[in-house]
Amino acid sequence: MECELCGRECQCRPAVLDGVKMMLCPNCLNKHGKAAKPISSTTSSKDPVILNRIKKPKEKDVYTGMDKELVSNYAEIIKNARQKKDLTREKLGFLIGERTVTISKIENGDLKPSDKVAKKLEKELDIKLFEEVSSPPSYALGGQGNKGLTLGDFIKKE
Ligand SMILES: [Zn+2]
Repeated sequence: MECELCGRECQCRPAVLDGVKMMLCPNCLNKHGKAAKPISSTTSSKDPVILNRIKKPKEKDVYTGMDKELVSNYAEIIKNARQKKDLTREKLGFLIGERTVTISKIENGDLKPSDKVAKKLEKELDIKLFEEVSSPPSYALGGQGNKGLTLGDFIKKE
């Protein structure tokens, strides 16, 4: 069996790349690993409906690349903002409906506030606790829209 990507004679395995079924050698499968999703031999890969079904969620992942994440120094931000507003932990807890001990833990960095609590803190303290992060398109199908970037590039950047 020849690898359909590099043409090497090898133990190729079925994979889907850009919605096309291909036989890939372990090397290529590794290189395009996240893109090529091995399909079980029991699945009828000839059926275009199945191919579409495999492809759709991947595309969605690629185009929802922006995500919001809690900032790493949330404890500091909350503490500073609270002190600036001259609020005690008790008062802040009262305002957002959380216990004082919860506020203490968050300010000590011992507890990551839940999305709900973080949003209440943002509103009450007039701060931003979420930053937009672009998640690496690990599912990018053969670089659609990400030409020139390989998985290795993302690893290096991080
Ligand atoms: Zn190959």
